[in-house]
Amino acid sequence: MGSLKLVTIKGIPVRIHITFPLILLWAAVQFGRGQSNVWQGALFGVVVTLLLFICVVLHELAHSLFAIQFGGRVIEITLLPLGGVAQMERLPDRPYQELLMALAGPVTSGVIGVGLAFLTLFLFPLRIWTDFLRALSSGGKLPWSYLLPYLAVTNLFLAGFNLLPAFPMDGGRVLRAILATFMPYGRATALAVRVGQALAWMLGLLGLFGRDVFLILVALFVYTGATQEGRLVQLKTALAGLRVRQAYSHSPQAVHPEDPLSRAVDLMLEGFQSDFPVCDGGRLVGMLTRNGVLRGLREYGPQVPIHTVMLREFPIAGPEDDLFDIQQRMSELGAEVVPVVDAGTFLGLLTRQDLEEAYRLVTAYPALLPRRR
Ligand SMILES: [Zn+2]
Repeated sequence: MGSLKLVTIKGIPVRIHITFPLILLWAAVQFGRGQSNVWQGALFGVVVTLLLFICVVLHELAHSLFAIQFGGRVIEITLLPLGGVAQMERLPDRPYQELLMALAGPVTSGVIGVGLAFLTLFLFPLRIWTDFLRALSSGGKLPWSYLLPYLAVTNLFLAGFNLLPAFPMDGGRVLRAILATFMPYGRATALAVRVGQALAWMLGLLGLFGRDVFLILVALFVYTGATQEGRLVQLKTALAGLRVRQAYSHSPQAVHPEDPLSRAVDLMLEGFQSDFPVCDGGRLVGMLTRNGVLRGLREYGPQVPIHTVMLREFPIAGPEDDLFDIQQRMSELGAEVVPVVDAGTFLGLLTRQDLEEAYRLVTAYPALLPRRR
């Protein structure tokens, strides 16, 4: 959502978020400001930022390839103004695998940084470094020869920043992996999340006092990232070992493909249900969601047969599927409901509310639902 696909590398789509041009704009302003030739400075900023993002893609690819190696699945890599995110469906289970996967990114950035630094030494006289650092701090002229040292420094910074032992940085994963070898996974995560939030507060205060908007944005990014990771693991711990059959709604009202849409509207008004399985003689042939009902009413009116507006392709769940996996898939797809089907027979629906209920119940009283490990 809200992103464009650039390329596909090793089966992983690399996308840019629609807000990505903002960072180019920011770079143009930042680098152009105070330069004798504003346009040349601005162009330098844009070029250097684009090159830097190629390095960021390599960083994320390194994580992704290790994740795939350990049986994970990478959905996509998205470039946001503040960096790249590799969205993974399943993470490696073992602490040492997570450790290697987490280290792969910063190590890649570090290697690129050191490599470019050597290349700079090889191509230019040594004093380019002192000239370059002076130009950076005092807003001096930025000739194109400064591209290399600039990229070297930012890649090394990227490696260092990502190794900070706090979520959502890679170092947070490293810290959790190490902690998880001698304490439960949930507690290890909670600790790494706390460190991340504390770091975010520090960065935020520094940004406020230094009037640095960029630093405040980074602080917000770190804070929300840390908090999200904490929630995800809480959810995972709560739902671990639970099956779909323990949470789904057993006898939802079903509709027939030849029924008029008004039938579903009546059912919606009578009860709590807003998504309907479309069944023909016990067989599930489609799904009619709340949005489908609304769209159908707008486009065709209440008399249209349900088969014209129902979804024919949708995710399904089996009764023995892992509840957490299904929850993750639903939230990725933005699905409010999935039908539960066993060997072709329709059993019921698993809705967001069912999941929330299961989560609240087992959090209140863990022994309520038996877990299978
Ligand atoms: Zn990383």
